[in-house]
Amino acid sequence: MGGFPERLAAVLEQRRKEGLFRHRLTLESSQGPVVCVNGRQYLNFCSNDYLGLAAHPRVVERFRSAAAQYGVGSGASHLVCGHSAPHHQLEEALAEFTGRARALLFSSGYMANAGILSSLLQRGDSVFEDRLNHASLLDGGLHSGARFQRFPHNDVSALEVKLESAQGPKMVVVDGVFSMDGDTAPLAALADLCTDHNAWLMVDDAHGFGVLGERGVGSTEAAGLEVSCVPVLMATLGKALGTAGAFVAGSELLIEGLIQQSRNYIYTTALPPAVAAASLEALSLVREEPWRREHLARLIARFRVGAQQLGLPLMTSASAIQPLLVGDAALAVDLSNRLREEGFLIGAIRPPTVPTGTSRLRITLSAAHSEEHVDQLLEQLAVCWPVS
Ligand SMILES: *Cc1c(COP(=O)(O)O)cnc(C)c1O
Repeated sequence: MGGFPERLAAVLEQRRKEGLFRHRLTLESSQGPVVCVNGRQYLNFCSNDYLGLAAHPRVVERFRSAAAQYGVGSGASHLVCGHSAPHHQLEEALAEFTGRARALLFSSGYMANAGILSSLLQRGDSVFEDRLNHASLLDGGLHSGARFQRFPHNDVSALEVKLESAQGPKMVVVDGVFSMDGDTAPLAALADLCTDHNAWLMVDDAHGFGVLGERGVGSTEAAGLEVSCVPVLMATLGKALGTAGAFVAGSELLIEGLIQQSRNYIYTTALPPAVAAASLEALSLVREEPWRREHLARLIARFRVGAQQLGLPLMTSASAIQPLLVGDAALAVDLSNRLREEGFLIGAIRPPTVPTGTSRLRITLSAAHSEEHVDQLLEQLAVCWPVS
């Protein structure tokens, strides 16, 4: 019957009807607490630039000088001739920082997750994922060939029941910090469970890396986990580090195995070397400037106290991701639009990104914000909130 145009048109129509149609903003400035869209300035509360490094002068300068030396494009995949000195230094720095034997760069977090899961897992294995895991982990697990099972969010006992009856090599996969909820996985309990059941634990720390733990190593440091408890540690560079790309850190065996067989690693052009150099600079800032994490933690506390006083529907998050639960998708969009008219950028997150009936405003805080920015946000939320 109908071909592709009819099918696409039907999808768009359905999305419009359900209040799920998505629009892109076009920024005319760098990331920062204030961004420019259509010639107008907005206070930005939807970026994942948690430490304010995406436009940091040192990071930008390192990018510029590396581009002068290495050019813009990497020219090839890592295994052909695209692997350059900045890539190699960054891998060594990330391995050292995370306390692992080795680290391996991927072009994006999405590619890393899909690539790690599809090369480690095969038919006959079992993979268990938290149902609120990032889409890239769920897609990777689904397409891996292994028996794929979701477990209820952060429900260690439900996972235990599933592990007890599982066949073959087992892998448990979670976000360290859940991207749309901001809460953290119970990593210590998960690590114990995995040890008991001889399962491998993989943690995607896209939102914890650089932000959590005393040194900024992330969720695993904050949970006090030994390196051996998390054989597969993955994180992205596009969030707290403010650059782009992703990495996986682990044993010599894991990394060499991925280099040899991960199709997502092998068959794609390496990141620009200048991005790797800029990431090295950002990593130095993470190490040298713990005040960024401390300031961010104060802003999070300030926002939560203020939101509580206003009776806003906070979720149980201690991270820089502070969603306000709205429920209805159209209502969430309406709120986001009203806030935008007042000069605040806050994304409405709707299905299919989150379960139906749990649409929300996803507020993110950054070390680049000031206390005044947070107070301004709270004042505006107080005005906009009574929704109906
Ligand atoms: C952003 C994100 C990714 C994807 O990383 P990209 O580099 O943006 O492709 C993967 N996992 C989680 C939890 C994320 O938040």
